[in-house]
Amino acid sequence: MFAALIASALYMATYLSFVRLLRYPRNWYPPSLQASLTTGVLAALTVALVSLSPDGLDRPALAVSVGFIVVLFYIIAAPAIAFWPASGLANRAVEFLAKHGDYAGLWLLAPAIFAGLAISNIKLQAFLATAMAIELTWFLRQLWAGRQRRRLYPLSNNDLSVLETQAKGDLVAFRQRHGIRELMLSTGAVGWNGCGKGTPACPFNLYVNRLGLNTAPCCRDHMKDLSHYVADCLVEMGVVHWLEGGSLLGAVRESGTLLDWEDDIDISVLLDDDMTWKRLASGLAERSARDGYYVDLFKKKGFVSISFSPPKRWPFRWERNRLRGEIRADIIIYRQAISHGETVLERRSHKGAMPATESGGYGVPQEIVMPTSTVPFLGGKIACPNQAEAYLCILYGDYSEVEYTYVDSGPANARARIDIIGDTPVQ
Ligand SMILES: [Zn+2]
Repeated sequence: MFAALIASALYMATYLSFVRLLRYPRNWYPPSLQASLTTGVLAALTVALVSLSPDGLDRPALAVSVGFIVVLFYIIAAPAIAFWPASGLANRAVEFLAKHGDYAGLWLLAPAIFAGLAISNIKLQAFLATAMAIELTWFLRQLWAGRQRRRLYPLSNNDLSVLETQAKGDLVAFRQRHGIRELMLSTGAVGWNGCGKGTPACPFNLYVNRLGLNTAPCCRDHMKDLSHYVADCLVEMGVVHWLEGGSLLGAVRESGTLLDWEDDIDISVLLDDDMTWKRLASGLAERSARDGYYVDLFKKKGFVSISFSPPKRWPFRWERNRLRGEIRADIIIYRQAISHGETVLERRSHKGAMPATESGGYGVPQEIVMPTSTVPFLGGKIACPNQAEAYLCILYGDYSEVEYTYVDSGPANARARIDIIGDTPVQ
């Protein structure tokens, strides 16, 4: 009996460690070695406890426990892997599982009951019962979240013409085929049943990148809130920061709005001896916890992500990594460095065509960024590089030309035609 309780607790620990690990693919990073090893060791301990006893090795229990963990964890990981198309892992099976991620774990319920009855091993039975109880809880919580009130947003002419083009005119079939639950067609007019703080976010990495739709109006609204929230926090903390990447491109080229297919807000910050990682991280974590935003810190990568969705309490905290959608501000750390005799602001990760620095990072000349200026953005003003246009040239070359960076090639070609024609719906 005691061993059964331990098997149950060990599976729970393995599960929590695994869903925490999923924050990496969700933020387009390969999982860290240390975090992967922790999960791997916990999984191995669970399997060992379930299948080893004083009488020797229980082979059926070994096969069932290994098989279960592999299949169930693949199902659980699917939405996070689908977040990271560049990894090459997001194939059709992953997308299918991600689409059914709210309840796909329960597909293992019948095999679990069968194995539990066929093999009389109380530790295996406890392990299977715990795994299925977690999946059932996840399903019920998603069902509950899905029933929260949503606000109905109208779609702009441009949103609608992009939607109609990508759906080849048949919205009903398109909605059905891709499971676009937010799309409201019943009332005659086309509307969008928007996501909110209490509902799961729209899975717009699918809608935007794969299907080539515009970012949903609800998500754009929340990105606006989030960008001003984060910028205000940084101002309050006295952190040097500037709008980065696609967000800066929207601010400069699209007169202070988001790109139509924007999938996150990019803000960069400058750290030094005074404004350390620790100060930045604790300042952002404290404020976000108080104001209902979720913060994820990646110290080694020099990266902070702040999500629009509120943080959940333990043990549900990391289960958010099973969700399909996310409205997020990505905050990238820069530091001053000398490269090829020039003072540059340097980051660890690659961005656009930013040149490599001597020390193996990527950097821009300091005077292009400092002292920062401001730019109108989503109804307010946000800090931007001193020479915003030169900055964009370093990242994107001739940025006046529209490039559908994150959109799959088929939908990108279809939408390129609309963007040339303008806002008239294309039949
Ligand atoms: Zn939304």
